[in-house]
Amino acid sequence: MLTIAVIGGGAAGMAAALAAASRGAAVFVYERQARVGRKLSVTGNGRCNLSNRNASPAHYHGEESGFVLPALRRMDAAGTLEHFRSLGLLTVTEPDGRVYPLSNTAGSVVDVLRYALEAAGVRVETGCEVKAVRKNRGAFQLLTDAETRRADRVVVACGGLAGERFGGTSLGYRLLEGLGHSCTPLRQGLVQLRSSSPFCRSLKGIRADALARVFLGDGLLREAAGEVQFTEYGLSGPVIFELSRWALSSPGTLVSLDLVRELPEEALRELLLRRSRRTPALPLEDVFVGTVQNRIGRVLARSCGLELKKAVSDLTEAEAARLAHEAKHFTFPVIGDMGMPNAQVTVGGVRTSEFDPETLESRLCPGLYACGEILDVDGDCGGYNLQWAWSSGALAGASAAERTNA
Ligand SMILES: Cc1cc2nc3c(=O)[nH]c(=O)nc-3n(C[C@H](O)[C@H](O)[C@H](O)COP(=O)(O)OP(=O)(O)OC[C@H]3O[C@@H](n4cnc5c(N)ncnc54)[C@H](O)[C@@H]3O)c2cc1C
Repeated sequence: MLTIAVIGGGAAGMAAALAAASRGAAVFVYERQARVGRKLSVTGNGRCNLSNRNASPAHYHGEESGFVLPALRRMDAAGTLEHFRSLGLLTVTEPDGRVYPLSNTAGSVVDVLRYALEAAGVRVETGCEVKAVRKNRGAFQLLTDAETRRADRVVVACGGLAGERFGGTSLGYRLLEGLGHSCTPLRQGLVQLRSSSPFCRSLKGIRADALARVFLGDGLLREAAGEVQFTEYGLSGPVIFELSRWALSSPGTLVSLDLVRELPEEALRELLLRRSRRTPALPLEDVFVGTVQNRIGRVLARSCGLELKKAVSDLTEAEAARLAHEAKHFTFPVIGDMGMPNAQVTVGGVRTSEFDPETLESRLCPGLYACGEILDVDGDCGGYNLQWAWSSGALAGASAAERTNA
């Protein structure tokens, strides 16, 4: 019986193991952490945004843009949901295409995969770090702390550097380099932004709906709408993760937030002036009441240099225009990001030109496969990275089990 070793029990490794086991191979998963799916269990803020209905090569980045196509074609978002349904996991697709488990709990995804591995007879060894892989006369040897394991095929699914607390590591890159592979430069992607705005601390902890735009000088680089989270150091939240690639693309960018995207600037100005006539005694610090959160409203008034305790009846037309402009273009100069440990994904990875996209087999070392984040593929925010883990894992596992002579 063909023996397949899967190194890494994350999303991609579990998908690979299931695909290989369903084709009759004897499958072993080696996971260095105490349990499988550690990172998976914290994804999507604990909800696990496991896929996106719109998954297509346009949402992926790397040296070879078309590399993801065969894997996505073989297992697209619909196929992935069908597969999860067959494992007993129900899902909900939100209007923007993001898919979550119906239970709203990432743990459910990990659980159905764990049970499926068990049912398929996959042997999972946790707390087992693979230190090196060697190929000797057609077979592989895997070196761990305790002993040397033998395998006919090896699937490397060690993930990337991002999210160190949950298992992000460079070990996988070293393993593949030891077998002749090379990496593109690695950096953090989908990451929180640090800003020099003096208002970060006052806004800390607030979540707001906004249209966020990234500018370099006068040039608009990218925009996206949705939830923004204000933090002590700057900006976070799904929209910021999504825009981080562009915000970090060159020094001197800034993020401009439209905090009242339902109203044009002129209409907002009118609304503020009407308020000054209807509730003249209201202090200016509350002029945005009912439009944005009170703390945001006060910060906007402060950033316009207005005196907060003055009555709104004293609001001049020019001041109302300034306030409306500020609410529609509240800017945060970007001075960096929160680094690889806090990032959701690694940009860069093992060179995809060294792997066959149709099978994910190494072109340099037959019988060796790689899948998931370790490869030079990173997806947009919104379930695309896990979709890549499922699709590439399923392809690598199936190819490893189907190929007859390595
Ligand atoms: C906080 C956070 C939230 C995220 N949220 C989302 C989301 O909602 N939607 C989405 O699409 N993506 C999300 N991502 C990204 C997504 O989780 C990853 O892209 C995906 O998990 C990658 O899967 P993988 O199997 O390639 O790697 P991993 O899930 O990282 O798994 C790799 C595994 O290999 C093990 N390993 C490594 N080296 C060895 C070795 N030498 N021996 C044995 N074991 C080894 C590691 O311990 C790890 O368990 C998030 C990431 C983070 C950090």
